[in-house]
Amino acid sequence: MKDRGDRAIREIVIVGGGTAGWMTAAALSHRLGNSGPDIRLIESAEIGTVGVGEATLPQIRDFNRMLGIDEAELMARTSATIKLGIEFCDWGREGDSYIHPFGVHGEPIGPVDFHHYWVRQKGEGKAEEFGRYSLAIEAARLHNFSLPPDVPASLFEAYSYAFQFDASLYAAFLAEYSAARGTERIEGKVVAVGRDGETGFIRSVTLASGEQIAGDLFVDCSGFRGLLIEQELATGFADWSAYLPCNRAFAVPCEIGDPVGPFTRSTARSAGWQWRIPLQHRLGNGHVYCDRYISDQDALDDLMENLEGEPIAEPKQLFFKTGKREKLWNRNCVAIGLSGGFLEPLESTSIDLIQSGILNLIALFPEKQCAASDVEEYNRVMDLEYDRVRDFLMLHYVLNQRDEPFWRDMREMVWPDSLSEKVEAFKRRGLVPQYDHGLFQPASWLSVFIGQNLLPETCDPRVDSMAAGDRASELERIRTAIDASAGRMGKHLAFIETYRARFSGSRSDAR
Ligand code: FAD
Repeated sequence: MKDRGDRAIREIVIVGGGTAGWMTAAALSHRLGNSGPDIRLIESAEIGTVGVGEATLPQIRDFNRMLGIDEAELMARTSATIKLGIEFCDWGREGDSYIHPFGVHGEPIGPVDFHHYWVRQKGEGKAEEFGRYSLAIEAARLHNFSLPPDVPASLFEAYSYAFQFDASLYAAFLAEYSAARGTERIEGKVVAVGRDGETGFIRSVTLASGEQIAGDLFVDCSGFRGLLIEQELATGFADWSAYLPCNRAFAVPCEIGDPVGPFTRSTARSAGWQWRIPLQHRLGNGHVYCDRYISDQDALDDLMENLEGEPIAEPKQLFFKTGKREKLWNRNCVAIGLSGGFLEPLESTSIDLIQSGILNLIALFPEKQCAASDVEEYNRVMDLEYDRVRDFLMLHYVLNQRDEPFWRDMREMVWPDSLSEKVEAFKRRGLVPQYDHGLFQPASWLSVFIGQNLLPETCDPRVDSMAAGDRASELERIRTAIDASAGRMGKHLAFIETYRARFSGSRSDAR
């Protein structure tokens, strides 16, 4: 054990070796360094992991960069493809489709945001579909991709990207990374938890083998069961199923056929939605649904009938309840991953919430007694993140114009005030929310508002200070420049091949 004084955390115990556990181990072993606490991770092959979670958000690149991970290696080792956004099919009306891109639409003209000009021109029938003004969307539609320039030639050329990958390979990759930085992996099943009688802090966990593992700080990455945070500490769960009622899913991979576009697809179904996530060697598919509106058998049949290729594994059923722990940090236990909460996979937010949990833990890394102010601050910030993700996910549901009972009920449900205010501000004047703690920024909200046919009643009056002809030529200038830039990019699959070759090249050099 390393000597860091009496008050310092000397031993961290992570319970769980899914994506959450290994991301936590990798980041803590990297950031806390050699002189930091001992880190032990307990996982149980007998219990296994949830085994889904393939689509990510661009922020994962910051996480990997922080760890010094080479992207070419990561892509090669996790069978990753590029993701420029999510295509939503049939979410507004049946037959509609729009992409929520990892990038902007247009650029401000003078002091006024682009979408006000677009709304004005659209009202006069003089604008093309909103997505035509987004470089990330045009590239995705052409199945093109190139790395974004460090400094884009114009604001409308700014975009980012994420990965679609095999999350279990990502966890295995991070396990190797963490082991190389001193994390000790312990195979075993936790069967008992020891607490301090006075403070209620967790002092140790006991494995089925009888081995007892002591710690100062415990990170609960045990998945939905919340072994420490709930089963032991009874922290409480804020149940959000009134807001996000989908509670089951079937997942099944299938053979991949057509050229692989750099995007995830979500198609609305009668009582939920289906995902399609292309990896290098297979398509990930799943049907997320609410069991009050469709039977398991019908949900499974819908999924299997809509596969694009032959299934390559048995379908797996998953059960969940949307919501989060009342406190993500309770006493000396921090819940990261599914043990902390789950808001359904519509916008691929879970891995990102894991990342936020880890980064906030590093920023507020405690001493042994876990000062109440640090714990409160952590919970405040994480609550905001969860609330804002919840509102953004709900937005997709409440703005639908479909006719099935599930979708009618989604429109009529009670909204949290925080969501009503955002929708109202956009509807009245085209205003979009912007905040510090929260994943989805204005470009994302705009994509869904407009993609699902909500247009503002009035736009910024300053757009009228520009002559109608000038407005039209500005929009046309942006659209043609975007078309040209998207067309110049290479094919997505060619990009993956180049990256793969770069990685095998660097491996043989190393040898
Ligand atoms: P798990 O993977 O469940 O890992 C739990 C770990 O705890 C395991 O190692 C297990 O062995 C261990 N454990 C449990 N109990 C014990 C015990 N008693 N003793 C010892 N070890 C124990 N996220 C995304 O970001 N993108 C997506 O596209 C996405 N799609 C999803 C689709 C569905 C249908 C679902 C349900 C989730 C999806 N997610 C997605 C979420 C994502 O799967 C999880 O956030 C991610 O896998 C992290 O899971 P975890 O590590 O918290 O839990």
